[in-house]
Amino acid sequence: MSKELLKKLPKMDQLLSDEKVILEIKKGNRVMMTDALRKSLDYFRNEILSGNMTEEVLKEDIIGKAFSIFEDDMEMNLKPVINATGTILHTNLGRSRLSKAACEAVYNISSSYSNLEYDIEKGERGERYDAVTDIILKLTGAESALVVNNNAAAVLLILSALAKDKDVIVSRGEQVEIGGKFRVPDIMEQSGSRLVEVGTTNKTHLSDYEDKINENSVLLKVHTSNFKLIGFTEEVELKELSKLSKKHGIPLVYDLGSGAMIDFEAYGIYGEPCVRKSVEDDPDVICFSGDKLLGGPQAGIIIGRKKYIDIMKKHPLTRAFRIDKMTLAALEATLKEYIDEKNAIKNIPILSRILANKNELHERAKRLYEIIALKSPELNLSIEEDKGQIGGGSMPGLTIDTAVISINHAILSPNEIERRLRHFEKPIICRISRESVILDLLTIDDEDFDYIADCIMKMNQDVK
Ligand SMILES: *Cc1c(COP(=O)(O)O)cnc(C)c1O
Repeated sequence: MSKELLKKLPKMDQLLSDEKVILEIKKGNRVMMTDALRKSLDYFRNEILSGNMTEEVLKEDIIGKAFSIFEDDMEMNLKPVINATGTILHTNLGRSRLSKAACEAVYNISSSYSNLEYDIEKGERGERYDAVTDIILKLTGAESALVVNNNAAAVLLILSALAKDKDVIVSRGEQVEIGGKFRVPDIMEQSGSRLVEVGTTNKTHLSDYEDKINENSVLLKVHTSNFKLIGFTEEVELKELSKLSKKHGIPLVYDLGSGAMIDFEAYGIYGEPCVRKSVEDDPDVICFSGDKLLGGPQAGIIIGRKKYIDIMKKHPLTRAFRIDKMTLAALEATLKEYIDEKNAIKNIPILSRILANKNELHERAKRLYEIIALKSPELNLSIEEDKGQIGGGSMPGLTIDTAVISINHAILSPNEIERRLRHFEKPIICRISRESVILDLLTIDDEDFDYIADCIMKMNQDVK
């Protein structure tokens, strides 16, 4: 039986002579189209062999399936999603979203030639970093600056350039794993420096550092934004370490991690020191990410004393970690927003989210609630107060008040709702909490309200 059906399956050249297929091939999509036809044929062959298909397969069916495979394959793999998780800087969802000005800068610079490494005044070769150096110095008060691909690269570059064959003294309380196998001891090994651990996990004193210092040491302080030590703890302040390093004439490096360019404390959010304040404590080198609290593109920003930055600029890793022009354009545009803090808060999406007004969140939750309830009256919905997060992998300690919509369904389990919402054309990514699916207004845009409500309605219709 199945042998007969297999024999009756249309052959490839029959499929290739179909009018619709010919048209697509003429557009230049021969490779993708033939691949899709082959996949479609394989699909039906397997269906016949496994006994799921007991009738003759028509040419139209194979071509129909091939076109749906073709369209899937032609679609972008990297695509926008709706972040309904309430985690503002979600590493898996692309961390920070760029301001409009930053997006426009990326478009302008990448669709044209540019003065990336060209000094227009002098008509000769220029430095790629010059585009952002002045603004970084102005905003941070630092002496010199350099930018690389990300902060992990920045840390590796700093240690490779300044601490090779030297002792790097780090507190045991700051031996962080930053994520994805990026651990302080591993970076040390890569950079050719020797890790000297001081203190204990919960307490490190100034004398612990001083006991280990020699003329070849480098002091490293890491801002542990990705975990919190609570209770009987003590760490040495940056300011104290700065004095100590000067007394012994050795460099102090500060891995600040998240890099807040505004003073969040002024807005009641504690635990993330702003870059400018850290510069005032006067370490020799500071590095931080471009796409965490700064709200720009993925980048590693290194600031500090000119003599150290100059050494780094000559290091071969600087070339290997070189920042791309699209990133540079986005970074410059993002930094320029900070010339006026009010502008930054208004225009940089992650800042306006972090500093979102609680009442406004509730108002927005009510609006989304009403749209969903209107389209899906049978759902069990409620508006609740909850805690949203600033960072996922990066700053789990920092939570902010938010308003969420909690969804339950008579038949669909929370896991099933979560899965279905994830499979729409623009996927909706949400979290499950207390046995309900949660849509968090902290990370959802008003423009997506109708789309979300429509998806939820479609999800319900499928069940009935
Ligand atoms: C996040 C973080 C890094 C890594 O930065 P990326 O930009 O993600 O490479 C390094 N150090 C600290 C302290 C961090 O918080």
